[in-house]
Amino acid sequence: MRIVFASSEIYPFAKTGGLADVSGSLSKKLAQHGLKVFGFMPLYKTVDINKHDIKKIDINITVNLYGKSYIFEVYKKVDNATYFFLKNDELFGRDYLYGTPEGDYLDNDVRFGAFCWAVMEFIMSENLNPDIIHANDWQTALLPVLTYYKYNLHNVKTVLTIHNLAYQGIFDKFAIERLNLGWDLFHMEALEFYDKVNLLKGGIVFSSAVTTVSPTYAKEITTPEYGYGLDGVLKKYIVKLYGILNGIDYEVWNPETDKDIYVNYCVFNYERKVLNKKRLLRDIGIEGEDKPLIVFIGRFAKQKGIDLIVESIEELSRKEANFMILGSGDKGYNDFFESVKGKYKNIFVEVGYDEPLSRKMYAGGDFLVMPSLFEPCGLNQMIAMRYGTLVIARATGGLKDTVKDISEENGYGILFENFSKEDFLKAIDRSLTLYYDNPNLFKKLQKEVMTLDFSLDNQASKYIKLYETLKYMGV
Ligand code: ADP
Repeated sequence: MRIVFASSEIYPFAKTGGLADVSGSLSKKLAQHGLKVFGFMPLYKTVDINKHDIKKIDINITVNLYGKSYIFEVYKKVDNATYFFLKNDELFGRDYLYGTPEGDYLDNDVRFGAFCWAVMEFIMSENLNPDIIHANDWQTALLPVLTYYKYNLHNVKTVLTIHNLAYQGIFDKFAIERLNLGWDLFHMEALEFYDKVNLLKGGIVFSSAVTTVSPTYAKEITTPEYGYGLDGVLKKYIVKLYGILNGIDYEVWNPETDKDIYVNYCVFNYERKVLNKKRLLRDIGIEGEDKPLIVFIGRFAKQKGIDLIVESIEELSRKEANFMILGSGDKGYNDFFESVKGKYKNIFVEVGYDEPLSRKMYAGGDFLVMPSLFEPCGLNQMIAMRYGTLVIARATGGLKDTVKDISEENGYGILFENFSKEDFLKAIDRSLTLYYDNPNLFKKLQKEVMTLDFSLDNQASKYIKLYETLKYMGV
């Protein structure tokens, strides 16, 4: 089977979050399962082509939009999958992928719209003949629309994966013209959304199947609370909506081989894990290696439950625990965390994006906290458990599908239901009780979570099954 897999970020080439991890690991795994996978991504300024051995090839793609021509040069890397990087510096030669900390780039519709047109042009001119075109999130959600409405490729099946429904690609209605779509697509059953253009909605309507990244989130997004205005549309198309749990790449996330952590370990010598905590605390200048180390790693966005941490910071500073917070994102949160740097002796803060440091934290932490307001799947909790770090999380979306509370039979984590400061702090207290009052159970659970299976194989087999079902389905 031949798959075109398009995403606005693919690890290790460019990453702002979980979308990149999943795009990188899933495309690789599908190829390892014998599928012919063609990955497509914009070539951003931030992609290090030398480091990744990405080479220019002799193909140019031209896209004409709204009286203007965009020429894309093509770069390529052959790995398990074959990746094509489409380069147009006017659109993608910028410092960030989607926008500065002050806000999104205003021409994101044209940037990613032109990219989608370029992918289609490439498919046609190079005779890629895909069986499936797999789009991811709003940036590539135009692909199913173009496949059926502009290129009339009715033998090709399309899959749209929603990694996060909060981001939909909503633009003023004249995006219809800017993207050369035609006003006949501007109605309630297509791309129109309250007199605006909604690219994700277009993808949902036109794709053969819509997937999202956990079974619980697939249910949640058909409700007004989590649907971000698209719950009605998703409910309408519920027969083609699937929840397929993400996995993590066990080659990328492995405490036994991780070069960034201080001391490697595995389930058979997991006692060595604690050496990572000692070294990490020493490096960041925090005392108290006997206390539990609770870490947070993630985007500073409302979704991640940052407000609960912000509101509780004084209480956290009085707990018998150390905290380490790594993240960056919305300016208000960045400013807040910058302002508390060095203020509390048990709270270390790093504002920024730092993968090696994140790895040291997964390895050195006793607990990872994820108080998310909503969480489509979440990868951090799976990575943390792979590194023997227990998870404290709000029971929502993929967190609910991957973490089982210790009050349940065979439970191995700490969950809280309500998005409130009180419940959040109670969950922190429960983790301290486990750590101090029941050290044997704590150690047993550390070992246990390391053996849970969050690998990609489950996820990849489910996608292959879906592709096959679609491929053999009539037009
Ligand atoms: P998101 O909603 O951001 O996509 P996920 O849990 O799906 O959240 O994925 C987050 C990924 O990004 C994980 O691999 C996590 O380790 C990484 N990550 C997030 N923020 C940072 C940061 N500041 N520094 C390093 N890695 C980070």
